[in-house]
Amino acid sequence: MKVCVFGAGNMGARIAEVFMTSGHAVTMIDIKPEFCERGVKTITSDLAFLVKKEKMTEERKNELLAGLKTSVDRKDAADADFVIEAILERMDLKKELLQELDTICPPHTIFASNTSALSITEMAACIPNRADKVIGCHFFNPAQIMKLVEVIRAIQTSDETFKTVFELMAALGKTPVSVNEGPGFVVNRILIPMMNEAMGIVADGIASPADVDIAMQLGAGMKSGPLHTADLVGHDVNLAIMETLYRETGDPKYRPHPLMRKMVRAGWLGVKTGKGFFEYDGPFGKEIVK
Ligand code: NAD
Repeated sequence: MKVCVFGAGNMGARIAEVFMTSGHAVTMIDIKPEFCERGVKTITSDLAFLVKKEKMTEERKNELLAGLKTSVDRKDAADADFVIEAILERMDLKKELLQELDTICPPHTIFASNTSALSITEMAACIPNRADKVIGCHFFNPAQIMKLVEVIRAIQTSDETFKTVFELMAALGKTPVSVNEGPGFVVNRILIPMMNEAMGIVADGIASPADVDIAMQLGAGMKSGPLHTADLVGHDVNLAIMETLYRETGDPKYRPHPLMRKMVRAGWLGVKTGKGFFEYDGPFGKEIVK
């Protein structure tokens, strides 16, 4: 299948990697060549790790990387059977992209969004002639490792589109779950408010970020503590999700914590900028253990 991934960031590069390693022909599109290069670097480093662990041969790695196309021209999606967007978590940008792709791609192309919480129904409504072929495909971070994919039906998504995408995700080796659209879907409606609460505990001076994480790991059986996970996701993304939950439900329990806003304003976005609740040796770096 010909697959086109929009966005070569945190999620897009790894989603491209998942499709490539499953034998699909992948084109990865971003807005600047340097963003595409950064995405290729991420994929190269992941594949080199697999070679080191003897889970992939050097030849296979080189073959996969040679087959990956990158571009800054949306028209390179013209022959895609399946398009998935992992661009910024903004409805205006996602709609603008879908509307242009609707004029570029053939009628059979399915459009999937990796949005964390935005309405798939609203996205589908902006391309009424293809609304039945719009669906949510929510991968988790890091996408090449995490098994879960939430397959989200907009009110307009056809049974045929849903079945095709559900089976495609299973064929990628993922575990898809069927979700009807609702703000935050399943995981983020539970997970992000929990991170928000963890930030409130730090802001109130009740415990340090490290102690909050240890408490939740040992007391609630979490593999990764809420604040490490929040750093991994990125506080800009966390804030966008909380704002969606708050706006869509009107429920004050989803109010983003002021500390989250303050960190986003400071550019302390977590792993991707090298600083969040914890410190890293540069953007996308390893944690500096103190
Ligand atoms: P990111 O900031 O790391 O990457 C976004 C990329 O999209 C950037 O490289 C940017 O240049 C590019 N981009 C922006 N506008 C574009 C356009 N019009 N066309 C092509 N590329 C464009 O963000 P991310 O963390 O990868 O998140 C991407 C999406 O995935 C968001 O919708 C987010 O909510 C969702 N998501 C994120 C996570 C996570 O843990 N970070 C998990 C699941 C889903």
